[in-house]
Amino acid sequence: MLVLGIESSCDETGLALYDTSRGLLAHAVHSQIAMHEEYGGVVPELASRDHIRRLIPLLERVLAEAGAGRSDIDAIAYTAGPGLAGALLVGSGFAEALAFALTVPALPVHHLEGHMLSPLLSADPPRFPFIALLVSGGHTQLMRVAGVGAYELLGESLDDAAGEAFDKTAKLLGLGYPGGPALSVLAREGTPGRCKLPRPMLHSGDLDFSFSGLKTAVLTAVRARELSPSERADLAAEFQEAVTEVLVTKALAAVRQQGLDTLVVAGGVGANQRLRQRLDAGAQKARIRVHYPELELCTDNGAMIAFCGARRLQLGQRPEGGGAFAVRPRWPLAELACP
Ligand code: ATP
Ligand code: MG
Ligand code: FE
Repeated sequence: MLVLGIESSCDETGLALYDTSRGLLAHAVHSQIAMHEEYGGVVPELASRDHIRRLIPLLERVLAEAGAGRSDIDAIAYTAGPGLAGALLVGSGFAEALAFALTVPALPVHHLEGHMLSPLLSADPPRFPFIALLVSGGHTQLMRVAGVGAYELLGESLDDAAGEAFDKTAKLLGLGYPGGPALSVLAREGTPGRCKLPRPMLHSGDLDFSFSGLKTAVLTAVRARELSPSERADLAAEFQEAVTEVLVTKALAAVRQQGLDTLVVAGGVGANQRLRQRLDAGAQKARIRVHYPELELCTDNGAMIAFCGARRLQLGQRPEGGGAFAVRPRWPLAELACP
């Protein structure tokens, strides 16, 4: 079964073709970062318009890359939420219209389920049950994953998501948008511990997080006086250290508390090399296996949506109807059901 995946929940247009017997055949992403950069964040109206512009060329590209034609597509999976309403509507409208024209099913997919299952696309996939650490631009959650659709929320950020904290802190340090990757590059030149930042909720005894205080602490340091380039690098390194320390400690605690031995990391912050280093070291000591998505599949893409849709279709799920209008800008992951 050949499944076309379509992602348009925010500022990336992603299309991919996943074949249930041959694996991922093609995927292509167009990022709108350059377009939103001058505004310092995503402008929803511009995002929607750009998705419209990109969808058809990207579809042609993945079909050519896979050596397939439109008539080879057996099903279409698209991101139905959570995300920006207008951006989601572009993807869902396109997916439902194409599915209608090709007389194939169109399946709405949860964006975070896509992120969470993306490590299953790797050569050495994790086995259920596992703990998932979802660290993206909009979410920071620890989930117990018993199978596709069987998700239990164990803890989450009470304020900013980890990626959001990276982006806002990067902005305070004068780095561009989205600042997460840039901040991690700057952090390499600095030394953590030279300036001290808090480790929020490290000893809270639960699996929740809080990152907005860290950002405020950076703001205070930046406002106090003019920082030298090396002091800025030290601050970036200490910020990254603080975030990763809390994430690693709580993720490993979740695995232990649930009596499991596997951790899956998903979402854009999962691309952070320092986080991977610390997780790998901690997990090795605790005899826990950690799985990551391929680096290029950490941030938004169509491959994770195609894969997620394919899995659900294989497990017997059929589209419920509701069509293009059934997008859900807010959609708690734990509400999903097994197919
Ligand atoms: P959500 O998936 O919650 O809807 P999103 O789709 O915007 O949010 P992703 O695409 O998963 O989020 O990830 C983007 C986020 O990942 C941004 O906040 C970005 O700064 C962060 N990010 C990407 N690479 C890195 C990195 N190397 N270090 C830290 N953060 C990173
Ligand atoms: Mg994005
Ligand atoms: Fe995402």
